Amino acid sequence: MLDINTRPVLSDLHGSLRRPGPPPPFTQAIPEVAAHPMAEHTPRRNIETWAHELPASFIECRTMGHRWEPHSAVWDKQARAYHVIHECDRCHTQRKAWWNRNGEITSAGYSYPEGYLTKDVGYIGADGRGVLRTEYLARIFATTARGNGSTPQAS
Ligand SMILES: [Zn+2]
Repeated sequence: MLDINTRPVLSDLHGSLRRPGPPPPFTQAIPEVAAHPMAEHTPRRNIETWAHELPASFIECRTMGHRWEPHSAVWDKQARAYHVIHECDRCHTQRKAWWNRNGEITSAGYSYPEGYLTKDVGYIGADGRGVLRTEYLARIFATTARGNGSTPQAS
């Protein structure tokens, strides 16, 4: 048994630390890889159920990544940068970014199609991505097992 009474107390430096979190410039949506401050507070829905109801295109993009085609780049005089837009031809997510003359990305964001984001299941971590791959495989076997008699050997 460890006695942790001697643990130092980190008491309030300047009251509660609250981040105002202004939206990034030029973007409509925060990339999903960014921190999810609301994740713990999001009401959880069963990830399996959610994955089962996703369109095939969303499952494929979430397991294999987006298919960025077509794309466009337009020079913006005011921003003095290129507004580069890639669109996934499978799920129609758009990646909008500003690239400067040196090719540095100064700002980037995503616009997702309705239903792509996980409003009610919270952040998709390693477990969630496993569920998505399982769902992906289940759908592949559901369409290929019919007829050729192959049976998935699942654990
Ligand atoms: Zn996609």
